[in-house]
Amino acid sequence: MLIAAIPLLTLLRQPARGAAARAQFIELINDELGLAAALLGTLFVMWGVPVADPLAAIVVATIIAINAIGLFRENLSILLGRAPEPQVMDAIRQAVLSTPGVCSLHNLRAELIGPETVHTVLHIEVQRGLTIEAADAIATEVKARIHRLTNYGFCTIHVDPEGSQPPQTLHDPRTGELITGEPA
Ligand SMILES: [Zn+2]
Repeated sequence: MLIAAIPLLTLLRQPARGAAARAQFIELINDELGLAAALLGTLFVMWGVPVADPLAAIVVATIIAINAIGLFRENLSILLGRAPEPQVMDAIRQAVLSTPGVCSLHNLRAELIGPETVHTVLHIEVQRGLTIEAADAIATEVKARIHRLTNYGFCTIHVDPEGSQPPQTLHDPRTGELITGEPA
């Protein structure tokens, strides 16, 4: 129990814990609980109360199961690609529109692929007649600005000439229903 407590004390001294550190922290607490149950069970068996051993095991198993459900619920929405907070979406929109050379944006989609990592897909419109090099430079700058906001997640940018955006139609993957994209 003392040896298992050493990494626990190290983690306790960290002020901010990420998702992996939090999972490790709960895992170490579960270890301590398991060892405590074994110790108590052994002592009670020694004192002639053998039923205390399975009882201690049931109590600890319940605590571990509750911890596991908590961790699972906390991480489920992130693993399933939840959309970032509206403030993050607004910040992305603002960062894109403030980039020199960007006339407008449409079809902005974003999903979380980690606790703070965002996968962003969007279309930008640039002035007609620009060279590919100039349009590419604008897209690269947009990407850099989004990366500064979203912890270096993935970002895909499609460049359109100004005013050419066709009416976007998509099929809902679940219902097969036709849905219209976000207007420019
Ligand atoms: Zn487009």
